[in-house]
Amino acid sequence: MNRTYYSKLIFELSRPGRTGYSLPPCTMTGHDLNTELPDALKRQTSPRLPEVDEPTVARHYTNMSGNNFGVDNGFYPLGSCTMKYNPKLNDEMAALAAFGRLHPSQPAETAQGALEVYDGLQRMLAEVAGMSAFTLNPYAGAHGELTGLMVIRSYHRKRGDTRRTKIIVPDSAHGTNPASAAVCGLQIVEVKSKPDGTVDVDDLRPLLGDDIAGMMMTNPNTLGIFEREIPEIARLVHECGGLMYYDGANLNPMLGVCRPGDMGFDVMHINLHKTFSTPHGGGGPGAGPVGVRAGLEELLPNPQVVRQADGTLALRESDGALGQISSHLGNFAVLIRAYTYLLTVGRQHLRQVGQLSVLNANYIKESLKAYYELPIGGLCKHEFVFDGLRPEYGGAHSEADHIRTLDVAKRLLDYGFHAPTVYFPLLFHEAMMIEPTESESKETLDAFIDVMKQIAEEAKEQPDTLRTAPHATPVRRLDDVKAVKEPRFTYFDYEQP
Ligand SMILES: *Cc1c(COP(=O)(O)O)cnc(C)c1O
Repeated sequence: MNRTYYSKLIFELSRPGRTGYSLPPCTMTGHDLNTELPDALKRQTSPRLPEVDEPTVARHYTNMSGNNFGVDNGFYPLGSCTMKYNPKLNDEMAALAAFGRLHPSQPAETAQGALEVYDGLQRMLAEVAGMSAFTLNPYAGAHGELTGLMVIRSYHRKRGDTRRTKIIVPDSAHGTNPASAAVCGLQIVEVKSKPDGTVDVDDLRPLLGDDIAGMMMTNPNTLGIFEREIPEIARLVHECGGLMYYDGANLNPMLGVCRPGDMGFDVMHINLHKTFSTPHGGGGPGAGPVGVRAGLEELLPNPQVVRQADGTLALRESDGALGQISSHLGNFAVLIRAYTYLLTVGRQHLRQVGQLSVLNANYIKESLKAYYELPIGGLCKHEFVFDGLRPEYGGAHSEADHIRTLDVAKRLLDYGFHAPTVYFPLLFHEAMMIEPTESESKETLDAFIDVMKQIAEEAKEQPDTLRTAPHATPVRRLDDVKAVKEPRFTYFDYEQP
C-alpha cells in the first residue's frame, strides 16, 4: 500500500491501554513511596501521552525520517546558508568516546586532548582568515556577530570614546547583521548598493563621523559579488575612527585564495556550520568563532584557551576581556568536525575548495541565464541571484502569466531537489539565491540545470502545474509563516483549536 495513503488511513495511532514496554513489578521493600514523597512532588493527574506499541513507534519515526530532505539525500542549493556535504569521518571524530565522555567542568589538566583541538582550530582559523586570534565560544553566526560587535564597543569604551553608537550596514546584508547590532545597543545606519550590487562608496562618505563605531561587511556579499572597494572603504572607516567588521559566514569562496585580515578588517566571525563541516538546518547546532586583528586579542570573551610556559593548555579568565558569552567552550562537537575537516582537506588543497565552489556557481548561472532573469551579470563567487523567470517564460516581470519564484521553488520539490533560498536578498522582488558548493559532481549540477530548464518550459506551456506544485510531497503548500511562528511539536497540541 502507498505509504502516504496508509498513514492517512490510520492517522491517529494511539489506542487506550496499548504500551510499548514492560516493567518488572517494584521490588523495593521497606519504603512506601506514597507516604515518603512529599505531595508537592506527586502528579495529581496522569501524564497525557499517546498509547502505542513499539512497532508502531518504530514505523512512525522511520517513515517520518523518510519525509525529511537533507544534503545526504539530495542536492540542496541554498544560497547564503551553504548546505554542503559533510564527510562522515567528521561525525565519527565528534562521536569518539574520548570526547563524548568528557565533563565540561572537569579540570583543564585532565582535558588536554580536547584543549589541543580547541587550540589547534583557533590557530588554523587565524591562519585561514589572516587574523591574530580567535575565540571559538559563540554558538552561531549571529552569536558571533553579537560577540564581535561587543568587542568593537568595548574597544571604543576602553579608549573613553563613548560617542560611537552607530554602525554602518549595507542594504544587501544578511538580516542577522542589523539584528545583532540592535541587540548590542547600536543604531543601524544603512549604506546603499550600486546597481552592480557592491557598496556605494559615495553613499558611504557622508555617513562617516565621530559617532560611527564601525562598519559591517559581507564579502563576497549576499549577491555573490566580490566587494572591490574594500581597501578604500576600510581606509575611510578607519580614518573616522571606526573598526571594520567582516561577516565571514560563507568563507567557502575565499578559502586559500584571500584573507579578510589582509583586506583591513579588524573583527570577524566565521560560520563553522557553513564552511567547515557540520550538518545544520532546523536551527543548529553551529558555531560562530570570532577573530580579531593584533591588538584586540585581550578583548575576546572568557574563558580563553592559552598555552602555558610548560607547554600545557589552560583556561584563562582575563579582566579586560568580555564576560562569558556561552557555557564553557561553545558547541564542542562542531569544533571537532571543523578541526577534522581542515586536517583532512589540508593546507595545500584548501584553495581548491574556494575555486570549485566559484566554478560550480558560475556554471549553473551561465547555463540558466537564458531562462531566468539575471539582474547582476558577470563573474559571481560561490553564489548568485536570479530575479525569477525571464519574461518570455512567464516570469513575474512579464505581462503574461506571472509565475513567481515561489512556484518554481515548490515545483523543484517534485523533482527531488531542495529549493534555493527565495525572496532574499530583499534587493529584488523575485530573488532566488543559488549556491551549489564545491562538493557536487558535474552530473548533479547538470541534472539540476535540466530540471530548472524543464520548469521554465512548464511555466510557459502549463503554468497551473507550477501554481499548484508540489504534487509529489506528503504535504502540499503550507502556510510557511505559521509553520515557523506557530510550530506544534507535541502530540496533544493538535487537540487545541
Ligand atoms: C548564515 C549567515 C549568517 C547567520 O548565521 P547563523 O549561524 O544562522 O546565525 C550571517 N551572515 C551571513 C552572510 C549568513 O549567510
